[in-house]
Amino acid sequence: MAKIHELSTILADQIAAGEVVERPASVVKELVENAIDAKSTQIDIYVKDAGVKEITVIDNGEGILQEDVALAFFRHATSKITDRNDLFQVKTLGFRGEALPSIASIADVKVETANIAETEGTFYHVRGGKTQTKRPAAKRVGTKITVTDLFYNTPARLKYLSSLQTELAAISDIVDRLALSHEQIAFSLYNNERRLLQTAGNGKLQQTISAIYGIQNARQMLEFSGQDSDFSVKGYISLPKLTRASRNYISLLVNGRYIKNNQLLKAVLKGYGSKLMVGRYPLAVIDIKLDPLLVDVNVHPTKQEVRISKEEQLCELVTQALKERLGQENLIPNALQNM
Ligand code: ADP
Ligand code: MG
Repeated sequence: MAKIHELSTILADQIAAGEVVERPASVVKELVENAIDAKSTQIDIYVKDAGVKEITVIDNGEGILQEDVALAFFRHATSKITDRNDLFQVKTLGFRGEALPSIASIADVKVETANIAETEGTFYHVRGGKTQTKRPAAKRVGTKITVTDLFYNTPARLKYLSSLQTELAAISDIVDRLALSHEQIAFSLYNNERRLLQTAGNGKLQQTISAIYGIQNARQMLEFSGQDSDFSVKGYISLPKLTRASRNYISLLVNGRYIKNNQLLKAVLKGYGSKLMVGRYPLAVIDIKLDPLLVDVNVHPTKQEVRISKEEQLCELVTQALKERLGQENLIPNALQNM
C-alpha cells in the first residue's frame, strides 16, 4: 500500500495556521489588514479577555459578495492578486489567501457582511474549518467578523498563550502600528469594553502619534522627509531627549506595511549618531514609499519581513534625512503647531 497521501484540507489549513496564527494578536492583525484592504475608513476592534475569549472586527469597507463569502475561507483564494505579475507588485496588505481559512480551522468564526452592490447581506458561520451556516442577512455595508474559541482544537497552542496582560499588549502593539501606517483610517480598540485607542482618521499622522504616545510626546517629535531617485521617506522622529529603553517605539513602514528590518533600524539610530545615550532609543515613525517592484513581500507568511532591493541606498537616505533634520534643530518644538 502506498505510504504517501494528501492531507485533508482542514489539516492543511491547521498546519498553515501554525505559521499565520501564533496568538490572538495575529488574528487581530489579519482581520484588520483585511479591513484596510477593503478600503475601510473606520475600523473598530473589540476583544474580550485579550482576544482569548473573543475578537470582533467591524469595518465599513467594501464587504464580500454573497457568492464569495464561502470562497473567502478557501486556502489560496483571494481577490487581491491574479497572476505572477501581480505577485511582484503587491499593493495590498494581503495576497496569500491564507488568513481566513487558517483562522477558521482553529477557531469559531462568524461573519456578517454586505457589499454595496447587493440588496442583502450574508451571515456565515464556520467552526474548525467546517461550514455551520450560510444565510442571507440584513444589509449593512461592510464586514463584521467575530472569532471565538481560538485554538480550541489545538491544545498545545492554547497552553502556550501568555498572560492576558501580555496578549493584550501584543494586540495593542499591532493595532498601534496599523493605525500609524494608516492615518486616514479611524481606528478604535476596546478590551472588555474599556477603550484603549481611538484615532481620528483625518489623515494627520501627528494626531495618530498623539493618540498612541500621548500629546506631550507628540509635541516632542519632529517632522522629516527625504527623497532620492528610488525612495521617498517621511515621518516623525523624537527629539533626542525623548527616548525609551526599547527599540519597539520605532515603526518602520514600507508602502503602508509595518515591517521589521534590522538594517533600517540601525540606519535610524545612525541618523541620531551620538545624540542618544547608550541603551536609549527614539520614538519614530519612518514612512517609506517605493516602487512595489523594489520590494518582495512574499518572504514569510506574516509578511512582516520583506526584502528590499537597494536596501543600502535606502538606509543611507534614512540616515541622512534624520541627520539633516536633527542638525537643523535649534530645538523649537513647533511640531504640533498645526494640530
Ligand atoms: P488575503 O487577504 O490574502 O486575500 P484572506 O484569507 O485574509 O486572504 O481573505 C480572503 C478574501 O476575503 C480576501 O481576498 C477578500 O476578498 C475577502 N475579505 C476578507 N476580509 C474582508 C473584509 N473585511 N472586507 C472585505 N473583504 C474581505
Ligand atoms: Mg488577508
